[in-house]
Amino acid sequence: MLGKIKELKKILSKEKKIIITTHSNPDGDAVGSSLALYHFLKKMNHNVNVITPNKHPDFLNWIPGCNNIIIFDQNVERANKLIADSDIVFTLDFNDLNRCGLVGEAINLKKHEIIMIDHHQSPSDYSNITFSYPDISSTCELIFKIITQISDTDLIDRDISTCIYLGMMTDTGSFQYNGVNSETHSILSSLMKKGIDHSKIYNNIYNSNNLSKLMILGSALNSLNQIKEKKTTYMRLSKNQLIENNYKKGDTEGLVNYGLSLKNIDFTAIFIEDIEEMDNVKISFRSKNIFPCDKFAKKFFNGGGHKNAAGGKYTGTIDDAVEKFKKSLTDFNF
Ligand code: 5GP
Ligand code: MN
Repeated sequence: MLGKIKELKKILSKEKKIIITTHSNPDGDAVGSSLALYHFLKKMNHNVNVITPNKHPDFLNWIPGCNNIIIFDQNVERANKLIADSDIVFTLDFNDLNRCGLVGEAINLKKHEIIMIDHHQSPSDYSNITFSYPDISSTCELIFKIITQISDTDLIDRDISTCIYLGMMTDTGSFQYNGVNSETHSILSSLMKKGIDHSKIYNNIYNSNNLSKLMILGSALNSLNQIKEKKTTYMRLSKNQLIENNYKKGDTEGLVNYGLSLKNIDFTAIFIEDIEEMDNVKISFRSKNIFPCDKFAKKFFNGGGHKNAAGGKYTGTIDDAVEKFKKSLTDFNF
């Protein structure tokens, strides 16, 4: 990493126009890492803007700096101009330009210096400097490692620490996944020393549900199926169930984890019909122990992600998606 840090330091030694972007449907790690880097680079006196492809869920509305985010699909003209006028684009928490929608099309590979900071497997080849570390459990953890090497920890204040803690917490299932290690915890310790309120961050994320989210959780749990011999569960949500329960963006986030809370289960999936597009089913996978969700998602559902958390999609009806899932489980050897 040292050589890349040196290169980055050199680029940042003069004032630059910088865009930070992240993947579509940004989650806690995406928004947390983008805003942490935003605050940091502003402190280094750069001209910085965060542009997300579309809006983050409401439960992230409290994050320091989130009012400054420019949402591409709500400000197309302004966002395009800012991207065109910039020198550097940081792409955070994804590694293929098709994950950031129309923002990806606005980036000029010839003109922009592109810096990827990410922890997903198999990065595409689009960046000038590539920080790709799939063993690190969140992009926020990686951002901490990078910014503490660019500058001393004095520049890291409570707001930056809050943003980083948020993404570390959400991307590790509150520090339960395999990727969490002693270094993760020593970073958490540094963040605590900066005065973050970890209980408040937790409550803001996990104890601030909409009524609609809990009603949708009820529908999902009602659909829970168990395949005992495969140590697997799955749930499903139709478009009608979402509409009946007054679905709002973000309401289905995290529901998949309930399928893994049944004892003796190693793998779970949730199938969710797209509310806007016919015959489009989004699938989330989660696992414990050795079951490789990313390989399963890639092989059967045109997706990917990490060993214990991945996603994919199916074109067709939700019934057919579930049938394909059951057959795929039988066919899958790992
Ligand atoms: P989620 O189930 O929360 O949507 O996604 C879990 C993880 O899988 C995330 O790290 C996300 O980046 C990854 N992921 C979700 N959907 C896709 C997809 O369609 N393609 C790929 N390559 N990764 C995905
Ligand atoms: Mn992430």
